[in-house]
Amino acid sequence: SLTAGIVGLPNVGKSTLFNAITKAGAEMANYPFATIDPNVGMVEVPDKRLQRIDELIPAKKIVHTTFEFTDIAGIVKGASQGEGLGNKFLENIRQVDAIVHVVRAFADDNITHVNGKIDPVDDIETINLELSIADLDSVNKRYARVEKVARTKDKSAQSELAVLQKIKPVLEAGGAVRDIEFNEAEKKIVHDLFLLTSKPVLYVANIAEEDMAHPENSPYYQQVQDYAKQAHAEVIAISAKTEEEIAELDDSDRQDFLEAEGVEESGLDRLIRASYHLLGLATFFTAGGPETRAWTFHQGMKAPQVAGIIHSDFERGFIRAETISFADLDKYGSVQAVREAGRLRLEGKEYQVQDGDIIEFRFNV
Ligand code: GDP
Repeated sequence: SLTAGIVGLPNVGKSTLFNAITKAGAEMANYPFATIDPNVGMVEVPDKRLQRIDELIPAKKIVHTTFEFTDIAGIVKGASQGEGLGNKFLENIRQVDAIVHVVRAFADDNITHVNGKIDPVDDIETINLELSIADLDSVNKRYARVEKVARTKDKSAQSELAVLQKIKPVLEAGGAVRDIEFNEAEKKIVHDLFLLTSKPVLYVANIAEEDMAHPENSPYYQQVQDYAKQAHAEVIAISAKTEEEIAELDDSDRQDFLEAEGVEESGLDRLIRASYHLLGLATFFTAGGPETRAWTFHQGMKAPQVAGIIHSDFERGFIRAETISFADLDKYGSVQAVREAGRLRLEGKEYQVQDGDIIEFRFNV
């Protein structure tokens, strides 16, 4: 399954956030033995649609779909040159599918900042520069090899060389591969280079608790937002310390707490959802059996593949997907009413499943 790696300078609140994640994960009713690797935290993906579906098509229980975060050991300036945990850190990032980059956006004189001052944009740039340097190193090594082969008129080496030539100056300027535009053929080549700066990223501004209701009033948060805007990235404002505290509360206490703080949803829930979308993931549902259940699929998957997520037999013997959209169920109020409105769809092998589809698969055994 896909995982998002939590990255950031020391003392910005990564461990605090990761603790919140593992505590929230420990609360999950349906996954008592979910966590094996201490650096991996599994959480439920919050989805209000599940309650509504369960109301209209009652089942014994509700099962959320899950998402994984990986805690990545601290990075310091010079990591690309082997400082601190240097190479180990970079290898750990190489294995994740997306980067959740935590930056400090709270003032607290008792907590030292590695660079002696709070400057979230400088923090972001410090880490991003390390990643660019590490990528440049990989690209340069690859370049030398591919250039030789390309001279023999090898077509695939020539295509790769062209991609490397496009990437190299961007990295030399401290930029990121994700910001370069590639066509489909180039994208395949880029994917096989496993570069750190090609991974999707989102920023978490770790704000002070008193800024939770109005993060936009925090100048630190504004700085992160401005940075992210020009990088076409998303920012989530979170108070990691508060999230850690509320992760231990039960659902109703947590709701009360959030209302008192003047926020609708926990920062952790917003982060989970944003990370899920960053990876191009979406949700379909099954209902009407013993459980109302959410499942994760990749956007763009076709019906048989999606059926295979539930069981390989469903994919092998796939006949059709009897599908209603959540919006239709919500609007018409029952499966019968959706059917009568002519909104129940019989979808075949070529159907691209949509987020919010409620599906009953028909298959041969
Ligand atoms: P890491 O090195 O990035 O993993 O940072 P930690 O999670 O260990 O946090 C470093 C210190 O900052 C700890 O003493 C935390 O309690 C504190 N801290 C983390 N988040 C917040 C926050 O939102 N507000 C305040 N005041 N302190 C925080």
